[in-house]
Amino acid sequence: MEKPLTQHIPASGAPLHLKEYEAVGGYAALRKVLQELTPAEVTDKVKDANLKGRGGAGFSTGMKWSFVPAEATGPRYLICNADEMEPGTFKDRWLLEGNPHQLLEGMIIAAYAIQATQGFVFMRWAYKEAAQIMNQAIADAYAAGYLGKNILGKNYNLEMQLHTGVGRYMCGEETALLNSLEGKRAVPRAKPPFPQVSGLFGKPTIVNNVETLSYIPHIISKGGDWFKSLSYTADGGTKIYGVSGKVNKPGAWELPMGVTMRELLEEHAGGMKAGYRFRGALPGGASTDFLTDVHLDVKMDFAGVAAAGSRLGTGTMVILDDRTCPVGFVHNLEHFFAQESCGFCTPCREGLPWTEKILYALEQGQGTYADLEQLEMHTKLLGPGNTFCALAPGAMEPLQSALKYFREDFEQHIKEKKCPYADHTHR
Ligand code: NAD
Repeated sequence: MEKPLTQHIPASGAPLHLKEYEAVGGYAALRKVLQELTPAEVTDKVKDANLKGRGGAGFSTGMKWSFVPAEATGPRYLICNADEMEPGTFKDRWLLEGNPHQLLEGMIIAAYAIQATQGFVFMRWAYKEAAQIMNQAIADAYAAGYLGKNILGKNYNLEMQLHTGVGRYMCGEETALLNSLEGKRAVPRAKPPFPQVSGLFGKPTIVNNVETLSYIPHIISKGGDWFKSLSYTADGGTKIYGVSGKVNKPGAWELPMGVTMRELLEEHAGGMKAGYRFRGALPGGASTDFLTDVHLDVKMDFAGVAAAGSRLGTGTMVILDDRTCPVGFVHNLEHFFAQESCGFCTPCREGLPWTEKILYALEQGQGTYADLEQLEMHTKLLGPGNTFCALAPGAMEPLQSALKYFREDFEQHIKEKKCPYADHTHR
């Protein structure tokens, strides 16, 4: 593959400052947009590139922008969702800390495409260093004329602000994010209307993920066909994949969309650590279904992972090894999801803590076969269509697939009345 798009990070690991970014061609795409392209032409270029949202859902980015009603009056908003809280996911942090101007340039171009006059970076509270870096980048971009009034001497104005969240998983759900930004309780809103039509303060709003926006300057500079050609599969471009767990080299890498799980695990993550065997992986953060060793040749794009029975999600794999108890592993995840439920809808508020309690009892060797039936029932009652947002259905994905692939482990806890695993390092 040609030089990766997003890895202009200096060898020192220090944040890329404005001058360094400009030296590698930074802000040339914005210049081109403002000099040569109408907002609709920018959106068309992004549509042509087949860029799919990298926050986890994979919705077409260009299509999303095109849903902003042309006739809408009053302000429009562009929001970068930097509230990265999916367990096992650290790709956006890497971009925020390593290449803040690339994101800002993508945001300014996206804002121009929808004719927004105000942008926000909504950032996870815990990303302190990234917040400092981004605030500096915003200040430098204002000073250089990339933000503010009459950007680069053209008749386009955009204000930009960083907003740090309150550290709740729910704030990453785009409509809860909007409520939070408005100073309200972070609970999701009913969709439709989608934010593109009625978002922040009831005005048209586009919410895009950090990684998604970071691709925009490159798509503008080199075109949709070039972007599509970087991918191994029909989904365009590259993707930042990650691997965590008992592997030799956990990390994140920008690779062609559609690499296999095997390549990720064996080549980039350096294989399993000595003494550990691969049992399964959550391919895209915690809210995805387990895949196992029979899936190692699955191509990691949206369609490929879906065909295998899971979701690409954030593309950051969490590995389950043979010395970690799958029941404890899933209990740990459900503890997180139960804690992060916003409490707005009953199935999620009541069902997740119940699920967590059953899993705890099972892990302690105090569970019964009836508990397994209860868990199966929960995976359906908290599944898609029964809750207000995707949190509980996402929480059920690792559980339902663990019951499918690691059922003998659940039953062993019941039969032996204890956890058969000595290693409880998942806690
Ligand atoms: P979604 O599929 O409902 O929406 C995705 C995007 O597409 C949204 O911006 C939405 O407005 C738009 N969209 C979808 N259908 C539309 C339609 N008919 N018309 C107009 N716009 C439409 O998914 P979601 O609930 O926003 O997100 C769930 C995903 O978030 C999961 O896949 C999960 O992997 C991911 N996630 C990521 C993190 C993280 O830290 N990155 C955290 C939690 C969840």
